[in-house]
Amino acid sequence: MEVIKKYKQQLLFHLILNLTVAVFVTYASYYHIPVFSLKDFGFYFGHFLALQFSVFGFLYFLTINKYIFRICFPVLFVLFSGIAFWVYTQDIGISQGIIQVSLETRMDIALDLISLPFICYLFASVVAVYFILTYYNRQKTDPLKSPLLLLAIIGAASFSFVESYRYGTFNRRLPYNVLVSAREYFGQNNLALKSIDKNVKAETDSLNVIFILGESVRADHLQLNGYPRNTNPLLSKRKNILSFPNAYTPLTYTAISVPQILTNASLSDDYSKAKYSLIDVLNHAHIATNWIGNQTPEKSYEIFIDQSQYKKIVDPLHSELSFQKDYDEKLLPIFKECFRPYQNQFTTIHMMGSHWWYETRYPESFRKFRPVIRSKHVASNTAEEMINSYDNTIVYLDYFINEVIAFVEKQNSNTVLIYLADHGEILGEDNQWLHAQNSKASENPALLIWYSDGFEKKYGGIVANLKSRQNNKTDLDFFFNSIIYFYKIQGIPYDRKKVIF
Ligand SMILES: [Zn+2]
Repeated sequence: MEVIKKYKQQLLFHLILNLTVAVFVTYASYYHIPVFSLKDFGFYFGHFLALQFSVFGFLYFLTINKYIFRICFPVLFVLFSGIAFWVYTQDIGISQGIIQVSLETRMDIALDLISLPFICYLFASVVAVYFILTYYNRQKTDPLKSPLLLLAIIGAASFSFVESYRYGTFNRRLPYNVLVSAREYFGQNNLALKSIDKNVKAETDSLNVIFILGESVRADHLQLNGYPRNTNPLLSKRKNILSFPNAYTPLTYTAISVPQILTNASLSDDYSKAKYSLIDVLNHAHIATNWIGNQTPEKSYEIFIDQSQYKKIVDPLHSELSFQKDYDEKLLPIFKECFRPYQNQFTTIHMMGSHWWYETRYPESFRKFRPVIRSKHVASNTAEEMINSYDNTIVYLDYFINEVIAFVEKQNSNTVLIYLADHGEILGEDNQWLHAQNSKASENPALLIWYSDGFEKKYGGIVANLKSRQNNKTDLDFFFNSIIYFYKIQGIPYDRKKVIF
């Protein structure tokens, strides 16, 4: 009887410990998820329990040594609670970018974040620590000799099992996302870049490239490419716009696709040799480079942002995982501010685009196709709802690109706008959804080119070339090579066969 009582007390302690951690930390990652039906709720509740079970495993190991627990638990718990407060109230996305923003932001901005509710939350977490420690000190069971140890081993092991089955299932949620992001922030970027020591110069002047780097837009959902739905009501009425329906990349997620686009790496590159960064080359050729982004930078491509002479990330606290992310139109006034029609300039506009969860990507007035998705859980939505929401993001993209063109066409400049999505998106083909999986739909990103009247007058030959190559298969290798050719940059080798201009 005495033995049962002993374990009962330990069991109760771990129940209370996990409940406290769940309320203060873990549950924050689930609080904003849109759920519609009981089935959704059940799915995410099960998800949450599985996550908490893995947390239990690690917490249990922490309790083995009295000194480690008494020091580590209070520090980690209050720290994670402080972060969870912002996830609960603002739905901030915990990413490498946010660690960067927090550590590199000026102190006065950081102090602005401290509010009365925040202090109350932290105070409550300190009180919780006090009770947990008091209860912990009364424990008489040796954690190494308790049958709970076996459960803890399974819990901790379930983490790597789940993560190897589907990366990010736990790693994108509290408390794990903080650790993963911190590791990414302090870790090295694997992309080795070649330094430029030669004389590099551009033989053009007043040539402007606006590079809109899109997100998860598949070519065949553009009306411009023959999609039967009216997804390009504005662009389809425009002249000087060419669509390339056969763009191709096997790199189907942002972190691997963007570095390929912005370097001389080929699609099949193993990156064993250092690469030229396009932004670095342009800087050396005295072409003004700007980066305006709505995506919080990832380690794999933040170097290109750093290298840009002017850089602005809008809404840096919210990542693609947040349901309170700003719309892409926030990028427009910044673009208008830094556009210089009469100089060599290269401006990257990095959109949030059509990234899942689609309903966070566009305002109400663009909800043209209905019914739309209501659940974050893909399987709870119908195929029709998924496609409707996705197509609404394309209607919004149409508006966005049209706004940029409408602004630029008023100025008498030599400008080319290149819209290129980093990859496509799968919408139910072979029962798959979203991206980061290879399929015809995810490997065929949208590619559009618009040119100003001034450009056509001066570079009629290039426009003719573009038209003649429009329907060719266009590997994303084209980008680096075409830009080098376009600015007539001397001193940097490029592959003439890949040029589309
Ligand atoms: Zn992407």
